[in-house]
Amino acid sequence: MARKLPHVNVVLVGFGWTAAILAQELTDEGLTVLAIERGAWRDTPTDFPPTVAPDELRWYWRKEMFQNNARDTITFRNNRSQTALPMRRWGSFLPGEGVGGASVHWNGQTWRFLPSDFIAASHNRERYGELPEGMTVQDFGVTYAELEPHFDRFEKLCGIGGKAGNLNGQIQDGGNPFEGPRSSEYPNPPMHMTFAQHQFAKATAELGLKPFPGPSANMSRPYTNPLGCQLGPCSYCGFCEKYGCGNYSKASVQTTILPVLIQKPNFTLKTHNEVLHVNLDKSRTRATGVRHVDVQGNEYDQPADLVILCAYQTNNTRLMMLSGIGEIYNPATGQGLVGKNYCYQIMSSADVFFEDKYTNEFAGAGALGMVVDEYNGDNFDHSGLGFIGGGYIANWTTNARPIESQPVPEGTPSWGSAWKKAMAENFLKATSVGAHGASMAYANNYLDLDPTYKDAYGRPLMRMTYDFTPNDVAMSAFLTERMKEIAERMGGREIKLNLRDGPYDSMPYQTTHNTGGTIMGTNPSNSVVNRYLQSWDVPNLFVMGAGVFPQNAGYNPTGTVAALTYWAAAAIRSQYLRSPGPLVQA
Ligand SMILES: Cc1cc2nc3c(=O)[nH]c(=O)nc-3n(C[C@H](O)[C@H](O)[C@H](O)COP(=O)(O)OP(=O)(O)OC[C@H]3O[C@@H](n4cnc5c(N)ncnc54)[C@H](O)[C@@H]3O)c2cc1C
Ligand code: SF4
Repeated sequence: MARKLPHVNVVLVGFGWTAAILAQELTDEGLTVLAIERGAWRDTPTDFPPTVAPDELRWYWRKEMFQNNARDTITFRNNRSQTALPMRRWGSFLPGEGVGGASVHWNGQTWRFLPSDFIAASHNRERYGELPEGMTVQDFGVTYAELEPHFDRFEKLCGIGGKAGNLNGQIQDGGNPFEGPRSSEYPNPPMHMTFAQHQFAKATAELGLKPFPGPSANMSRPYTNPLGCQLGPCSYCGFCEKYGCGNYSKASVQTTILPVLIQKPNFTLKTHNEVLHVNLDKSRTRATGVRHVDVQGNEYDQPADLVILCAYQTNNTRLMMLSGIGEIYNPATGQGLVGKNYCYQIMSSADVFFEDKYTNEFAGAGALGMVVDEYNGDNFDHSGLGFIGGGYIANWTTNARPIESQPVPEGTPSWGSAWKKAMAENFLKATSVGAHGASMAYANNYLDLDPTYKDAYGRPLMRMTYDFTPNDVAMSAFLTERMKEIAERMGGREIKLNLRDGPYDSMPYQTTHNTGGTIMGTNPSNSVVNRYLQSWDVPNLFVMGAGVFPQNAGYNPTGTVAALTYWAAAAIRSQYLRSPGPLVQA
């Protein structure tokens, strides 16, 4: 029997990037806000001081910071003819757990999607005709122009370092000329570039492209954000993505919001409690709160006026399914929307080996890089190419961690003295160029509940059915060719191509950029949530995160995830609280 707890105005499920933003916004409105996080408390001095943060074995290989997949994981298969099996060791993506969620161990590459990404279906139809059979791409229902002030707020919260390419419609030298118009310059200058980035910039400029510094949440100088939180300059320690920052130099929940939020009397954070489902009233059109369980197995009913899912894309989708909100998507019938349009990304890379030049990549940072955007989104003419979408090509120098980094040329044996010799010769003289490709939604890539496997509480695991699509494979082949031209021009002795071919494999790390499952849109027949991320079925339930993306773009998602969160918070503050109910009439 669950114990009933005292009522709060808002309950946030999870406490990562999206929850922290909402907690700050909604406590400012005077509401009582409770965040329930299933992982542990985490802060810089206790969990990742500079002497502890660079522990490769502990944090990455033993995966201490990630979702505990002995208790709850995902089952995976490539297609419907296969039996899905549980992922007992994370590989391809690394969902976060604990206070701060994945904000603790993200890289900090902080992008805005292109204006055309938000209208991918109508834009591509207008320019290239009907979408291919089986492709289920659709418009977001919100535009870049509407989100612009919210992108700007997140960039200022995080102290993003970069160079604007489009200020109020005026193209700027040195920035990304393809980006949507921005209302202000980045709050900080770009990071200091290394030898490899200078080579990349030279090579791409020679090819007639426009290189620019990647937008970075690793601080390029000391910064005080609008909430008064202070961040220190990055030391280029190279233990950034997959690690917490011991230097207070990476924008995260801990460094940008928590110091202010934790002092507010109307905010409460409960750790080590897992939300099991959303409670609904008899009509099933109103959330009454959530059911959660502590580590001793005690269950509680937490009543709330407003429930907001902030538990990451995969977990939000599953919580919707376990709560019986909306119909689960069935690809055989095309019925149902929860779990539809699951998308990922498609990457390839080229290693460049120099003969007598040192790249010294151990001095790196999660978002230290030079980028070109000519082949992203619809920045180029796709006529006759057989695909839509694209991706950026970049030289990020994030690290040369001793276990993870093994840059050896083509043909090197994978062990023994020849491998050791190649490692010794190349470890300090290699860099990598990567293509970060989009992923378009298709009817056969989706999420649902597994019929066999259960979590520690006996609830069905979420099942992922995913493979690379014809569109994405053709797009990746095109991007890889462009990337190869750049890599060959960088002045190295030789290059090694790491192609993305064959079926999607859930083991090698790619990105934690999972999207879809709780997609947003213009009406209840094409989406789970409306343009304000409000459930069509249960209007006092909102769903945050990249699950609302109808398809994935060729960028890292968090800039857009955060802008959508600020946008939803503004709608809750200015419209919903005045008149609780649907913000968009069906
Ligand atoms: C290694 C890595 C590198 C990345 N680098 C980048 C990058 O450079 N740029 C970029 O744009 N993005 C990057 N990302 C992605 C970025 O971290 C996410 O987009 C962002 O953190 C998502 O925010 P969120 O609030 O949706 O989820 P999260 O920040 O993951 O927070 C979700 C929280 O919910 C909790 N939770 C889950 N289920 C429950 C439950 N049932 N009950 C209670 N709590 C629950 C989890 O424990 C977690 O703490 C990276 C991610 C990883 C893992
Ligand atoms: S590279 Fe910079 S931002 Fe990243 S963990 Fe190291 S000091 Fe922090």
